[in-house]
This record gives sequence, structure tokens and C-alpha cells, in this order.
Amino acid sequence: MPYIQFLGAAGTVTGSKHLINTTYDSSGKQGFQVLIDCGLFQGQKEWRERNWQDTPVPAREIDAVILTHAHLDHCGWIPRLVKEGFRGSIYATQPTIDLCWVVLPDSGHLQEEDAAFYNKTRTSKHTPALPLYTMEEAQECLKQFQPVDFDQVKQLRPEFSFRFVHAAHIVGSSMVEISLGLNGSNKRLLFTGDIGRVRDSQVAPGRVLHSGPTEGESADILVMESTYGNRVHPKEDPRPELAKLITDTVNRGGSVIVPAFAVERTQKFLFMVKDLMESGQIPKVPVFADSPMAIEAVNVFLKHTEEFSEETKQQVQKLGSPLTWPGFNFAKSPDDSKKINDVKYPSIIVSSSGMVSGGRILHHLMLRLPDPRNTVIFIGFQSPGTRGATIKSGAKEVKIFGQFVPIRAQVAALEQFSDHADTAELLEWLHTFKGQPQETYLVHGEPDAANQLKQAMTKELGWKVEVAQWKEKVEIL
Ligand SMILES: [Zn+2]
Repeated sequence: MPYIQFLGAAGTVTGSKHLINTTYDSSGKQGFQVLIDCGLFQGQKEWRERNWQDTPVPAREIDAVILTHAHLDHCGWIPRLVKEGFRGSIYATQPTIDLCWVVLPDSGHLQEEDAAFYNKTRTSKHTPALPLYTMEEAQECLKQFQPVDFDQVKQLRPEFSFRFVHAAHIVGSSMVEISLGLNGSNKRLLFTGDIGRVRDSQVAPGRVLHSGPTEGESADILVMESTYGNRVHPKEDPRPELAKLITDTVNRGGSVIVPAFAVERTQKFLFMVKDLMESGQIPKVPVFADSPMAIEAVNVFLKHTEEFSEETKQQVQKLGSPLTWPGFNFAKSPDDSKKINDVKYPSIIVSSSGMVSGGRILHHLMLRLPDPRNTVIFIGFQSPGTRGATIKSGAKEVKIFGQFVPIRAQVAALEQFSDHADTAELLEWLHTFKGQPQETYLVHGEPDAANQLKQAMTKELGWKVEVAQWKEKVEIL
């Protein structure tokens, strides 16, 4: 029987990977095998170790990957899949491909740096510690990407076609509608990937994308994310709170450190900071965007304005490229990054990774967390088990590079920046469906979030909903 197998983002929010196996094709031969997303596991060791396991079907037998968007927890395992023998095409929208050109080599670079660090400090049980993949291997896999436009029907086999529709999560992000011919009948599968904010900028003021996820969907089988299945985002404009946090910090001689995903989230934040400076709501202090991919990320962000809201388009037109703003510095090389450590006056530092799981943010936090004049502001989801979650939880110390660093800096979080729909928004979107799916499987959520969303959907919509389990196979009937 054709089936879907959940190979990641089941019981957690990372490692998105769902295998569709048609088991046989129209001519009776071995079926078509497609991965929807191919993401890295991040966070606790228990999860990260799964990055080293083989796929249950050999990588060389997988025919294609269909990618929803360019966040690493959705695309970051592609270079490893290719390393293990996958030779098929990777289908994605053009903005997603452009972003992958930035984030995948960077991820390979980080993997190499981590392995080098473990070898230097002899802190791995493996000698030598190896990277999951290298920067070169990540660059190599980019050749297998193939662009597919939104709404274009792409036929991969006589019995298998798909179409990308808008997910409104980040630039280029999509949901995947699949049409599967089985024994003369046709099944429609919908994989949501990550779902963006549903409502307009009045209610979700941090958002960049205007459209909201495509409405009026229908599916026989729905595989849906549940990151915020137990949460409602604050409704207030984040700007006054952000302005106060920055002003208070600068007034006491401290600096603001913002861990943020380098692509889109960082740009969104930079535009808001620039706007606050221009309108005199915060002092004009130096801003450092410290990420090896910061400059490329700005260029991709400015290249794909087609999905931006009118407000964002106007802002981009008015303020121009962040690369030209006086007082805004983009640290590309490790040397540029190190120079920020010597800055003694108040400044704003935005650096990745967003969940403090690696990257240059570690150095900035190691240096600045012990000083109570400083402030750390989180503007993104912190997966349990990451350093970001530890710092955000109010812990007194956090382990960085094998050392316990005391946390005396102020810690704040602005949930309005979220690119994920909250529970109310998810239900609002589901209400636009043309009919009730036969089956809904919830993925990409911590157990509590997935279970609460299941309850809400059962109660409010009367749908049949299951929480997907890792490696579970479900038949496509
Ligand atoms: Zn995402």
C-alpha cells in the first residue's frame, strides 16, 4: 500500500522530513519515492544524533525532494542526503533556491567548524570528529535544485504531480499540494510546511509577507505543522516595547544582543530599528549585523519583494538597502566579527544562530551575558534544549564552549516577530477549507502543542486528527 512515513519533525519542531512511497507505479514497477522537506534536527543531543542515522530507504532510491522553504530545519539535511547517494532533483521556488545558496554552504561551514572545535578540545567521543557535511558538499548539492513557480503544476510521474501554493511564512515559502493517482482514483495530499501569519499587519505587526497562506484548500490527507498549537501571540505593536528595551539599555551604558536567523528575520529587525532611529524613538547607536551570510541575505531579501506587504515595500523604497545605511555594519569575515568584541560603547548586535545553537552569537553572548547593563532580546522561537531556550527561561547560567557563563544581562522576548500562525490563526485558516480531510496528521510541534491543537481541531472543526509519531508509516487509502 502507498504510505507516508514521518522521518522528522514528529514529537519535535526540527528535522522535517516526510517520505511518500507510492510502492508501485502505473507500470507495476517499484514505486515513486519522494521526500517532502529534508531538514536538520537541532536542539537536544537526543535529536541531533538522528542527523547521523541513515534514511529507512536507501538515499539513492529516493527519486525527488520537494522543499517547502529555506529554513535549516526543513532543508539542512539535503547535503547529507546527497552525500549518501541521492541523485534526484530538488524542487523549490526560486526565492527558496536563492536562500538555499546562502544558508546551505554556511551550514556546511558551521559543521566543519564544530568538528574542528571538537577535535581541538578533544570533546567528542569520535576521533576524529567529522562534519555531517562540508561547505563544499553543500555547494555541490545546489546543482540538483530545480525552480518551480507558485501555482505551476509539475508532473513528476504519470500518477504523481504537485503544485506549490503560498504559505506566507518566509520569502519563497510554500505548501505542497500533491495529486496522486491510485487504482483509478485520485488522492490529494497537502503538506503545509510552516504556516505564516494569517491576518494583516495591524494584528501581526512584525510580519513582512502580505498574502497569508492560500485559502480555500482541500485535501484527503493533510500533514500540518503545529509549532504554536498551544499559544496565542501578543496583539500589541512590538515597536514601543522594543524602543524602551533599547533606550533603557543604552542609557545604562549597555549593548543589545539579538540572536536571529540571518535570513529575513534579521532584515525585518534591521528595518524596524532603522525606522525607530529615523523617527527619534531610539538613540542612534552603531548596529552590527554579524553573520558570514549577512550581506548575501540582504541581497536575497531585496531581490524578492514580490510577496512583501505594501507597508514593507514602501519602507524598502523609503529607506533603501541596509547595506548603505550609515552606522549599520555588516561583518562578513571572522576578523570583522572579532572587532565587534572590542567595541566598548553601547551598540546593537544582531547575530546568528537564532536559537544560539552555534555560530558567532556564541562569542557575543559569552562576552556580554555576565554584564547586567546588557540586554538579550529574543525575536524567534526557541526550541527546547537549545541554549536560547535556557537563556530565555531565566536560567542563572548557560554552557558555551564548555564553560558555564553567568547570565546577569536583562533577557526579553518579543513574540510578535513570529513567522508562524498561532492557534487562533491556524483555526481561522482551517475554517477556509472546502471540505474535511479524511485524515489530518500533526507534525512540527512539541508534544503539548500538537496535542492541544489536536483537541482544538477536534472540538471546533470535528476533524479526525492524529499526532504523527517518529518513523510511523500511515497508509494512503
Ligand atoms: Zn520555517
